[in-house]
Amino acid sequence: MSIEQKITSLREELRQHNYNYYVLDKPVISDYEFDMKLKELQALEEQHPEFHDPTSPTLRVGGMVTKNFETVTHEERMYSLDNSYSKEDLMDWEKRIQRILGNVDVQFTCELKYDGASISLTYEEGQLVRAVTRGDGFQGDDVTTNVKTIRSVPLQLKGDYPPKFDIRGEIVLPFEGFAKMNAERVENGEEPYMNPRNTAAGSLKLQDSALVAQRPLECLLYSIVGKDLQITNQFEMLAKAREWGFKVPTIAKLCNTTDEVLKFVEYWEVHRHELPYETDGVVVKVNNLRHQDELGYTAKSPRWALAYKFKAEQVSTVLNEITYQVGRTGAITPVANLEPVLLAGTTVKRASLHNADQIAKLDVREGDTVFVEKGGEIIPKIMGVDFTKRPADSRPTQYIAVCPECGTLLVRKEGEAQHFCPNDTGCPPQITGRIQHFISRKAMDIEGLGSETVELLFKEGLIANYADLYTLTKEQVMPLERMAEKSAENLVNGVTASKQIPFERVLFGLGIRYVGETVAKKLARAYKHIDALMTATEEELVAVDEIGERIAQSVVEFFAKDENRQIVDRLKSYGLQFSLSEAQLENQTDTLKGQTFVVSGVFETLSRNELKKLIEDNGGKVASSVSSKTSYLVAGANMGPSKRTKAEGLGVPIISEAEFLEMV
Ligand code: AMP
Ligand code: ZN
Repeated sequence: MSIEQKITSLREELRQHNYNYYVLDKPVISDYEFDMKLKELQALEEQHPEFHDPTSPTLRVGGMVTKNFETVTHEERMYSLDNSYSKEDLMDWEKRIQRILGNVDVQFTCELKYDGASISLTYEEGQLVRAVTRGDGFQGDDVTTNVKTIRSVPLQLKGDYPPKFDIRGEIVLPFEGFAKMNAERVENGEEPYMNPRNTAAGSLKLQDSALVAQRPLECLLYSIVGKDLQITNQFEMLAKAREWGFKVPTIAKLCNTTDEVLKFVEYWEVHRHELPYETDGVVVKVNNLRHQDELGYTAKSPRWALAYKFKAEQVSTVLNEITYQVGRTGAITPVANLEPVLLAGTTVKRASLHNADQIAKLDVREGDTVFVEKGGEIIPKIMGVDFTKRPADSRPTQYIAVCPECGTLLVRKEGEAQHFCPNDTGCPPQITGRIQHFISRKAMDIEGLGSETVELLFKEGLIANYADLYTLTKEQVMPLERMAEKSAENLVNGVTASKQIPFERVLFGLGIRYVGETVAKKLARAYKHIDALMTATEEELVAVDEIGERIAQSVVEFFAKDENRQIVDRLKSYGLQFSLSEAQLENQTDTLKGQTFVVSGVFETLSRNELKKLIEDNGGKVASSVSSKTSYLVAGANMGPSKRTKAEGLGVPIISEAEFLEMV
């Protein structure tokens, strides 16, 4: 097989796997196998740029940066939809249609109304050429580079597609991926995102497509527009789009009467929570495209379609008790324990009350009847109190002052909403929580050891911190509940194997507050060895790119504690990795040692992250703002004017991307 054939066949194969996974939800190979094939293709494409293909699956990983999102006029306007909330609205609509069409038989296609960001995709000769947001309906922003990273958007169509058309749909962020993103943000000390819809819309406007590629976005399509499409009705249109490789939910239903339409609405009003993504109603469309033409549009929306909105679901129930949970970092979360109630198809017993301010704001008390709502989030929310039902002897909620687990006086830092138990070395859930974090998949990934076993080991007095794991013997573990010789052996072997886990993951595993996965990587790269990190001052730490004061302070605090230093020393003596490996250091030089760079704007050949990595790999430091300590300001297009003024004022040399590349 020639190189070109090899590349083509890999592309074909990966396209099919992408389709199986992201459109059909039926993968046939493992993620690992997929990654290996993708890497192989990437390597071949790099060696052979002459076989470039704008639809190659390797483009999915992103990396291109959009400086300005160009405004593009939609060839056909993108309309809004009229809303309805009741059976009566639906009947009125049907009457209006019948009046215009002259009492013919009308069929309706019912689809779910996906709640995300609208998008219009243009295909020419089967290739995606453009993706544009709705904007004001007449013109939107060209977000093609970002949309190309969404795996369910086909870059190359299959089958018998028209030479040119637009297809419209909604870009959504499924609940599961959204929850994962938020968990990571919280772990990194960042504010969680509000809801999937806004996050999906925001993602489309990120400049760095590599970031978009990391977000688990999906694109659900519902309408094709163009000339000579050879399609006669909406239901057939959905089937056609599906045939060409688009992700079109199969939930759509063809209905002969408005009664059938109502049945569909009623069914999904209840079952919508079983769907992986958010929906906020049903879109009812006159099925026949000739009828649609005849009905036409009002100033804002088609007369042939109607959005039947779901009611926001709310129930009321009694709040029996407020309890308090202590997390791994000592953060206290108040929890509302409710009289079990059926909400949106599931029984709800608990809801988060977030923090003391939230309780005070709503004035929630034990014994109150409260309104509980299931919004975009998976965890139900307490929306308010039914004050008419408040018992006469009700008393305001006293937020706890001491830790429910260890009795230590709680603290609340200036400007923070959460209370904390400061007894991090003696509070049981904090101790086990830290060990559980240490062994978790993204940290030490210890096979043969789970969360429950950690609790058991702690209860039995066999471990009091994660360093103790490394002295456990098979004989100690075997007598534990549900342990056998084999499982005890697996546990001990798993612990031993974890000594090979690379430095940045060990660092993440230590559980320093605000040091999440990404921050740990940054610190490992910047300091290369734990000893250097342990002696770093706050000022030095904030000089590292993207390390803020809060993180710096937390790192210094962590290593200032004797217990922590001792544990690290012990871990070192057991042979864990506390410095970057040879291979990790290999690509690194000292060319830029002692120099600090500020990077601003957008660059021609490198993404901003690549540029920063290059600086760090060559021993330089990246800082986020210009100061007298800055050695160079590397300036790209659209650089912030204040940075330039400041650099000029301080006499900091401003260099271009090309000049920088010369240096390394
Ligand atoms: P609105 O923004 O409330 O006027 O609703 C109109 C928007 O609903 C459209 O711009 C689409 O982005 C979105 N939408 C979601 N699902 C569908 C669907 N199945 N058919 C048509 N529009 C939909
Ligand atoms: Zn405590």
